[in-house]
Amino acid sequence: MPLRAKVASSVSRTAAALSRAAGRGDGSVIGGWIGLKIDPDLLAHLSAGRAIALISGTNGKTTTTRLSAAAVGVLGRVATNSFGANMPTGHTSALAKAGSTPYAVLEVDEHYLAQVLEATEPHVVALLNLSRDQLDRAKEVAMMAQLWRAALVRHTDVRVVANADDPMVVWAATPPADPVQGVRPPHVTWFSAGQRWHDDSWVCPECGSTIQRSGEQWWCTGCPLRRPDAQWTVEDDGVLDPTGAWHKVTLQLPGKVNLGNAATALAVAAEFGVRPVDAVSRLHTVTSVAGRYAQVDRDGRNIRLLLAKNPASWLEAFDMADEAPTLLSINARDPDGLDTSWLFDVDFAPLRGRQVLITGDRAYDLAVRLDVNGVPFQHVRAFGEAVRAVPPGRLEVIANYTAFQDIRAELDRVN
Ligand SMILES: [Zn+2]
Repeated sequence: MPLRAKVASSVSRTAAALSRAAGRGDGSVIGGWIGLKIDPDLLAHLSAGRAIALISGTNGKTTTTRLSAAAVGVLGRVATNSFGANMPTGHTSALAKAGSTPYAVLEVDEHYLAQVLEATEPHVVALLNLSRDQLDRAKEVAMMAQLWRAALVRHTDVRVVANADDPMVVWAATPPADPVQGVRPPHVTWFSAGQRWHDDSWVCPECGSTIQRSGEQWWCTGCPLRRPDAQWTVEDDGVLDPTGAWHKVTLQLPGKVNLGNAATALAVAAEFGVRPVDAVSRLHTVTSVAGRYAQVDRDGRNIRLLLAKNPASWLEAFDMADEAPTLLSINARDPDGLDTSWLFDVDFAPLRGRQVLITGDRAYDLAVRLDVNGVPFQHVRAFGEAVRAVPPGRLEVIANYTAFQDIRAELDRVN
């Protein structure tokens, strides 16, 4: 590395360590920020010489990054970013902290994918999904797909691992060839992880016609855009690889959605030459990520925490949750997005027949929604009240971002 980059990297590590010592989080944002102030090209310098995978999408990227890092770990040491630090400051800090590693697997906020592609020149980029997120802040889905597509046109050597089930992702991953400009479409490996949420992909991003669905297939009624055949798919409790071999996957994470994330991770690792048979047992080492899926026993209740931050992830959470008493908690503070009208995008009907409790700053918004949906519920003022209100056994907790953090803090305080 150039001297300036070495100094920047060292200062970045020190700043992060000081921030940690001061008890101000893990320091990765401030460390990366200072490093990039000293050397604006620091992320590029730290990336040079590493084989890198970027993981991006609206949902599942933290977990898929963990699973992919575990799978690529078959080959050697892997640098990876900590939860939440998924912008260039976090990537810079993660690579500076890891020192020299042959591999890196980085979670990337979908808005920053173009910038991080440019800086890191990755070997692989995995595109998971695109759906509506915080209404007052995030870009519209079709606009994100357009940004991804434009970024891939500039990096035709990158190998793309993409979700065949999401029309927006398929369109983004398949920019047209342009022989005049010397643009050829990127090499894409398709995986199928399922898509429960369809409400952001009824309109074709290419031509504006309606997208139709039948079973797992989808196609545009006005142009050739349609679901490509997937080389990696989930079957029963395992993953089928491109050769047709089936690998049983045992995870410590619940739900079919995480089997899909495992299929993605195996596909990412395969791009580095890792055989699925060697990687699959490592996936079991991934446990709860930043408290997501954590299970805590308290007063005879087994409490499981599921984070749901946007409509698509609420549907996934309903699917993961057992048929058991369920506490829903909603806040609308800054990190959550201030607008709760998305509650009406989510069908809460899957909760009918379960004991449902609600809490959080915006519990009354949730109450209206559940009432419209015909789901009976009970309002509780505090988490402890919810625990006392349910019989011994499993209590599922589904909460959005700051509500989730509040409940984690509450459990830490008591345990
Ligand atoms: Zn079309």
